Amino acid sequence: MSKNYIIYTYGCQMNVHESEKIAGILSSKGYTKCDKSEDADVIVYNTCCVRENAEQHAFGNIGMIKKLKKQKKDLIVAVCGCMTQQGNFAEKLSSMFPYVDIIIGTFNMDKFGEILDKKLNSKKRIVEILDKNRPICESVKPLRSSYPNAWVNIMYGCNNFCSYCIVPYVRGRERSRTLDNVLNEVKSLVESGYKEITLLGQNVNSYGKDLGDGTSFAKLIDEIAKIEGKFRLRFMSNHPKDITEDVVKAIANNQHACKSIHLPVQSGSTRILSLMNRKYTREQYLSEVKMIRSIIPDCALTTDIIVGFPTETEEDFLDTMSLVETVGYDGAFTFVYSPREGTKAAEMEDQIPAEVKKDRIMRLVDLQNERNRVDSLKYVGKTIEVLIEDYDQKKNAYMGRDERGRMAYVEFTKNIVGKFVQVQITSTGGMSLLGKVVKVEEEM
Ligand code: SF4
Repeated sequence: MSKNYIIYTYGCQMNVHESEKIAGILSSKGYTKCDKSEDADVIVYNTCCVRENAEQHAFGNIGMIKKLKKQKKDLIVAVCGCMTQQGNFAEKLSSMFPYVDIIIGTFNMDKFGEILDKKLNSKKRIVEILDKNRPICESVKPLRSSYPNAWVNIMYGCNNFCSYCIVPYVRGRERSRTLDNVLNEVKSLVESGYKEITLLGQNVNSYGKDLGDGTSFAKLIDEIAKIEGKFRLRFMSNHPKDITEDVVKAIANNQHACKSIHLPVQSGSTRILSLMNRKYTREQYLSEVKMIRSIIPDCALTTDIIVGFPTETEEDFLDTMSLVETVGYDGAFTFVYSPREGTKAAEMEDQIPAEVKKDRIMRLVDLQNERNRVDSLKYVGKTIEVLIEDYDQKKNAYMGRDERGRMAYVEFTKNIVGKFVQVQITSTGGMSLLGKVVKVEEEM
């Protein structure tokens, strides 16, 4: 009888891709993905400590499985992800949930198959949280679930220690994959028909520095330009202190690279940026934006912003608002600051009251929404190229994005997922665009 697994993933794209790797391991061992915990023989919780209230969230979900575990004695419950690397989480988890069978860290997730085998042959719980400096494992083949998009790690870890962020503590220092390994993975994905490749790293601009052989992010983009076939290249995330003219020129000259850059600013106040340990000022950030637009004039820019960082005054917040207006972002991920245990910012005095943070985030979201609304109207009547990513059951329409990342919906009689289509925009729905298909890839 076939055995089933289900993976619950929390957090960022990095985690989603790591779940694809665990799925790859389980599938190679003959397990099949299922949709309900009740049907699973193995349940994996891939945790993330970056999100707010992550620990309570994880504990809540793991707690809910207790009843099922009692009914199904052979069920294996595993917890992995960056939360297991944090402080005493593994011990806490062990004592609170005696029915968890496997606790494994981010640095040995590739060993999940071996650890599962060990567990199947023993009654004891297995806890394996390994050293952060373990070499990168290249042997795991992910079971991808996001066609036509594919995610490719180019590096792991981060050296930056922004004062609000837990990542360097739980994912270790920067470690880059070799240029050949990344290129071979990208080539094979393009050959298999993937149409959008996103390179992943906490700070992709640092890619290759640790290899000491001249490898750089600009070089990687130049090499990817030589790969034949029609596909889009994206990457995340950049750090404003590290993005260079070389990188922007490489993007400009690469026919695959979307002319769209995610440049997280976090705050428009130099004082707050310094407390965040971001290592750039407001002026330096704006000068990076100027440099990007001098090389790629129509480059789409998106960002991340945190409001209500400890000590943030109304004046600091207005600096953020004015920076948002000055740059004119194509999109912004906005967050209310919340302390992460183990970070410097969590220890800072003058935490901002919740009602002040709420007021500020609402004003910021309103500002960006209005910009998005006005920007969307400029699309009406234009024809844009959209890569169709999925069929939206609720909207009864196919959805995809243009090069700038703008979401568009179209109706069509045939399955066009994975196709580049020319779409004439007829109207807007807030951030998204609605249109009709003018041409499908093969006909172009
Ligand atoms: S650059 Fe800063 S925010 Fe990003 S992962 Fe590194 S420490 Fe965290």
